[in-house]
Amino acid sequence: MFRWRPWLAAALLAGLPATWLQAPAAEPARPGMALPGLGDGGDMTLGEERRLGDQIARSIYRDPDYLDDPLLDGYLQQVWRPLLDSAQARGELPPDADQRYAWRLLLLRDPSVNAFALPGGYLGVHTGLLATVSSADELASVLAHELSHVSQRHIARLLTQQSRQAPWMLAAMVLGAVAASKAKNADIGGAAIVGGQALALQSQLNFSRDMEREADRVGFGVMTDAGYDGQGFATMFDKLQQASRLNDDGGFPYLRSHPLSTERIADMRARLALEPAASRRAAVNPARHALMAARARALGEPRIERLQAMAQAGKSNAAPLRDPATLGLRYGAALAAARLHDAGTAQEQLGRLLASQPDDPQARQALRWLALEAMLLTQRERLAGLELAVLRTEALAAPDRAGLLLGARAATVGGDARLLDAASQRLQTWLALHPDDAPAWQALATVAQQQGQPVRAARAAAEGQRALLDLNGALDRMKSAQVLARQDRNGDHAELSIIDTRRRELERQVREQFCEERERRDPACRNPD
Ligand SMILES: [Zn+2]
Repeated sequence: MFRWRPWLAAALLAGLPATWLQAPAAEPARPGMALPGLGDGGDMTLGEERRLGDQIARSIYRDPDYLDDPLLDGYLQQVWRPLLDSAQARGELPPDADQRYAWRLLLLRDPSVNAFALPGGYLGVHTGLLATVSSADELASVLAHELSHVSQRHIARLLTQQSRQAPWMLAAMVLGAVAASKAKNADIGGAAIVGGQALALQSQLNFSRDMEREADRVGFGVMTDAGYDGQGFATMFDKLQQASRLNDDGGFPYLRSHPLSTERIADMRARLALEPAASRRAAVNPARHALMAARARALGEPRIERLQAMAQAGKSNAAPLRDPATLGLRYGAALAAARLHDAGTAQEQLGRLLASQPDDPQARQALRWLALEAMLLTQRERLAGLELAVLRTEALAAPDRAGLLLGARAATVGGDARLLDAASQRLQTWLALHPDDAPAWQALATVAQQQGQPVRAARAAAEGQRALLDLNGALDRMKSAQVLARQDRNGDHAELSIIDTRRRELERQVREQFCEERERRDPACRNPD
């Protein structure tokens, strides 16, 4: 399941519930310790699982490869939401799961093909997976399979088993947790100390064959009920099988955590034979998928030579074709060129893309946002017949998150007071409805800084850290906002009062988190007086 990453060690080891971190002899066996059946989470509660998940997510948010791209995120959400609704409608989710689980997809900049379920309803997705799947149906098959690992509580069960079956491992976890908590800001640095044990732990965290079969079975039902084509499962299996025949050299880590047995393939064929053809329909426009897959390829690629090759790839055919493969090739070429500050190539490909006029409105919108993005990256006022000023105004008025964030970014380039005001208004309206949108808070902080409003900027930065689950970082920033607000004699009293309230609230949350991690050992934690 897990692909080895440094933050995983720190997160897993630092995040285990307090009960697991005590020496085994110090705690009497808890009641109900019999081996749980498939589908029950062992003796790990949803709350414990979520706390562990939050700790891991907090580390992922700090990973330089964590990618919050509003366009890719919008696409992932479009494919993911119907799966979650379908799982809910089918009664696959544990009671309270909708409140207890985070249900957040975390995108990582990594060209290898992988996706993994994490505790507490977090799912990791590599850009390489998005770039490799040929349709939304294939993407949905992988997401539905991982969703089912979470909904069937396979992770909680594995971790519970883990703590019971290998006492030496528990000791290693205790050591790791101690090492991690000693570092002031226990972060990725702590992982090096405990890497060996974590690697051993990681190798033990693969799902059993029964769990894989269950995730296939449940995932297939969830996916087809959501309106995706069940064939996506089969074609994804074909892709994985082909990669394994070619002696996978690390490009498909998903294959190592999800070995394809003849049994899994036979089960899937049998399911497909029973699936009525009438329910098969494309849930997502193929042009939209092709553009977003190309975007994942261009954004996930760290190697300059590969980006250069991508930028050149669109040059062979000059006709403005609108078949998905050509659109994807050109979108990738334009974005790769823009990332390389090659305005000429970006302009050439954009021109052909815009002339091709794809049928899908979302695909056409994606092309306009690509033009704006390319102008920002290459510092041009116009490209392929489009004006920066026009697109910027369009983005700031757009109802979607991608437009909002791109528009805000564009507004901070010129420093124009009217545009900054417009961006600030839009961001605040958005944040009132989406208070956990960290990039939107960060954008507001940048806008406020440029508007000469340091107090507001500090408060927005604090809220951004809070949304990234870094409560201590949030509290530090809120304290700075408070200091700045008090120093400002002409300051806004309402603003200061909001900051005072938010600071107290954050202090309460920091205390709460501290106590949650010590709950069983120190019941007096919550009431220190
Ligand atoms: Zn699996």
